[in-house]
Amino acid sequence: MGRSSKDKRDIYYRLAKEEGWRARSAFKLLQLDEEFNLFKGVSRAVDLCAAPGSWSQVLSRKLRGKDKSEEVKIVAVDLQAMAPLPGVTQIQGDITKISTAQEIIRHFEGQSADLVVCDGAPDVTGLHDVDEYIQAQLLLAALNITTHVLKPGGNFVAKIFRGKDVTLLYSQLKIFFSSVTCAKPRSSRNSSIEAFVVCQNYSPPEGYVPNMSNPLLDHSYDVDFNQLEGPNRIIVPFLACGDLSAFDSDRTYPLQYLPPTQPPIRPPYLQACQLRKNNLLAKEDSPSGALDDSLSALDL
Ligand code: SAM
Repeated sequence: MGRSSKDKRDIYYRLAKEEGWRARSAFKLLQLDEEFNLFKGVSRAVDLCAAPGSWSQVLSRKLRGKDKSEEVKIVAVDLQAMAPLPGVTQIQGDITKISTAQEIIRHFEGQSADLVVCDGAPDVTGLHDVDEYIQAQLLLAALNITTHVLKPGGNFVAKIFRGKDVTLLYSQLKIFFSSVTCAKPRSSRNSSIEAFVVCQNYSPPEGYVPNMSNPLLDHSYDVDFNQLEGPNRIIVPFLACGDLSAFDSDRTYPLQYLPPTQPPIRPPYLQACQLRKNNLLAKEDSPSGALDDSLSALDL
């Protein structure tokens, strides 16, 4: 019987193993690029919330190209350390901190980034309202950092949970970008409320001074944006992206692919598991030599 669609080892999980991506999320960024041509002309990129690093891998492979251009600068930020990647500088830091923005700017030697991407996600609690709220906080932190490091005309892509406060987030993004689209790559499961905002052409309001404040935490902000109606309600286009002939992440496909580049480990307790399955594991009161007898019975 095929695996259920909820199984972690879906088609994109297996393809990621085959192609050497660190996570199946790599396909989300690749499919977003297919639709929005995000990497065109980009030589400085920032990957926020980057670990374990599949988006940084995509940036490294796509931006540096076959000739491994040294002109290209990529900075990856995460709370956690990750294994090194060619052409990617890592900052182990928190995206809610101004010091992280300053460190990115130092790395670009004062120049601005062409592209900022953020696939950040908190540890989900399973309480939808709480998860949506924390995700929104992370997105706003990413937006704040972006206003410090992105060049005018640059693009910003970030994960969003399409919950009930999404209109507020769209309105905030629309203040800074002339085009905001909500996109759902084929590799993102339909069963997940995850989508990505693709914000193009950074054009902050005149006189805007970047800062790290967060309007969702500002209690003087008492307008309920979900009550907005008519032209005041921000409508952001929603787009399914990735070639429609691409694999559907919620379907089950027969196993007909190459073996993974990194097969599952062979744990040291495998032998004990096999013995137990065959009811040959020596009992505490077994006479000495019982284990040897069991092993020879299994021919291990
Ligand atoms: N895009 C990554 C990839 O392709 O490998 C996967 C990112 S993973 C879904 C989410 C990451 O967000 C985690 O590694 C987590 O440590 C990071 N994160 C969450 N909150 C953060 C914060 N405040 N600052 C920096 N990183 C954060």
